[in-house]
Amino acid sequence: MIRAALDRFSGRSRSAKPLRTGELLTGNPLETGPDASRGVILYLEDITVSFDGFRALDELTLYVGVGELRCVIGPNGAGKTTMMDVITGKTRPDAGSAWFGQTIDLLALTEPEIAQAGIGRKFQKPTVFEQHTVFENLELALAGSKSVWRWLNARLQPAEIERIDEVLEIIQLTERRYERAGALSHGQKQWLEIGMLLAQDPQLLLVDEPVAGMTPQETERTAELLTMLAGHRSLIVVEHDMDFVRSIARTVTVLHEGRVLAQGGIDEVQNDPKVIEVYLGV
Ligand code: ADP
Ligand code: MG
Repeated sequence: MIRAALDRFSGRSRSAKPLRTGELLTGNPLETGPDASRGVILYLEDITVSFDGFRALDELTLYVGVGELRCVIGPNGAGKTTMMDVITGKTRPDAGSAWFGQTIDLLALTEPEIAQAGIGRKFQKPTVFEQHTVFENLELALAGSKSVWRWLNARLQPAEIERIDEVLEIIQLTERRYERAGALSHGQKQWLEIGMLLAQDPQLLLVDEPVAGMTPQETERTAELLTMLAGHRSLIVVEHDMDFVRSIARTVTVLHEGRVLAQGGIDEVQNDPKVIEVYLGV
């Protein structure tokens, strides 16, 4: 059921039905999305970010494949959040390059342009609109790129309602669609926020500590959700919970002092002496 919803959801390519554009954005080159025909959705090369001389990222090089679910781990201060800030345009690096597919130079774009190009970010703390229903939250997310005027005057198009229904199915909140988001559990709010991201149709999702504060059951369902999304979307997940990382990851990147310390399968990195050393006492 969820898989079917995902397949329908993914079946609509941007070019076939650019749902979130509205007529206002037609013709914008960012709308065509990334060109990942070489199998790589994200290229970070030699990225350096300095804060008062301190290198939060130190010539970081990282590639993420299309449809990949990449886990990024590393001790506090390793540079994980700074890396996400660079990808989303919140922080400008001092040096290096960042490309979304082969044609979109992230360093040339503003934060909203990067979001529009197809990179969505979910912060650790859920930021759903508590007073609004689950459905309305998704509606607002879908409207994100429309003008206020259009939003106030538009009725949802059938295709938009269908899209929200699909997202509800994917995040397993169909039955709670008319409840206030404030009434959801912490885990469900996190899923709703993932759904709000999905409504905006990103090709690459950045997710920061998705299971912090979740119950074991919620954690398990989140693992299922992210695993199912992989393949349909590309994901970078920052997470501390190693059991969770083990349950979802194919490739794990370990950051340390702003660089890649190790990369590979979970067993490989967990048995890597360099990784054991930086995690000792953490
Ligand atoms: P992580 O998310 O892996 O814990 P961060 O990317 O948040 O690491 O931080 C990397 C390093 O950069 C840390 O030492 C942190 O103190 C420093 N840092 C991050 N943001 C800033 C900032 N705005 N000003 C100064 N130092 C910062
Ligand atoms: Mg962080």
